[in-house]
Amino acid sequence: MPKTDNINRIIDHKLFSEDDIHNMCVTLGKKLTEDYAGKKPLVVGALKGAIFFLTDLVREMDVEEEIDFMDVSSYGDGFESSGKVKLISDLVTNVKGRDVLIVEDIVDTGLTLKYMKDLLKKRGAKSVKCCVLLNKEANRTTDVKIEYYGSKVGNEFVVGYGLDFMNFFRNLRYIGVLKPEIIKQVNNK
Ligand code: 5GP
Repeated sequence: MPKTDNINRIIDHKLFSEDDIHNMCVTLGKKLTEDYAGKKPLVVGALKGAIFFLTDLVREMDVEEEIDFMDVSSYGDGFESSGKVKLISDLVTNVKGRDVLIVEDIVDTGLTLKYMKDLLKKRGAKSVKCCVLLNKEANRTTDVKIEYYGSKVGNEFVVGYGLDFMNFFRNLRYIGVLKPEIIKQVNNK
């Protein structure tokens, strides 16, 4: 965990506590257990933000599943989507004929998930659905379907539990809102 004075420097307020996050994982895990009963899904984690959520979520799923990861980036180091999605590292697993569940930390414009869904469908996956922890709808520019999500969030920049601030602070146990003045400071540099 980062030191408290460093956290206080950047976090405005706590949005979701460890308990809130745990409860979202339990609820989603139960639903996914029902929906994937009798299937052997391939769970695809979107690096790096989804790693904490994925590890907690799959342990709430009573399903025989395989796990793989993809690194797809649309944000870079900034606070807004660049509008372009880049595949940085690919899956090892062949998705042909598989039921794929993409696990992502947060959906914003929807470009990242749309790119991943389209790519995996093109490769012959039997089904491709997604489960995101946080659903930020304000900036959505795509019609990508979000089959499962933990909670909606407003148009604010959130940090912690995998979500980064300039690649740091992913290891916060809770999710907080970044201070608006920090965004201004970084954008003015
Ligand atoms: P999209 O392609 O849907 O616009 O963006 C999805 C990606 O943008 C997420 O996987 C995440 O990396 C980043 N992102 C979007 N909103 C936030 C946010 O509030 N905080 C952080 N740390 N990353 C975000």
